[in-house]
Amino acid sequence: MLYTPGEKVPHSGIYTVTHDPEHAREHEVTCIKGRKFPPCRNCKGARFELKKATIQVEDHLYFKTDGDAIKMGMEALKKARRK
Ligand SMILES: [Zn+2]
Repeated sequence: MLYTPGEKVPHSGIYTVTHDPEHAREHEVTCIKGRKFPPCRNCKGARFELKKATIQVEDHLYFKTDGDAIKMGMEALKKARRK
């Protein structure tokens, strides 16, 4: 599936990018889920294709994140409400 600049990135991972042939050859970039594929500075033909989906380390279950503090805060709130 090909994505165009301005579309939302569906999965974090490595994307293969193709450009207008006069501009640049195919290359790879890392894109982050939820951000938008950016427009190319030089051509209108940039297209992105997911090559390898990867999990952002902050989203991986094995690692501590700022989100843990929020989750723990929620747990504390729930407990407080039960009392
Ligand atoms: Zn380009």
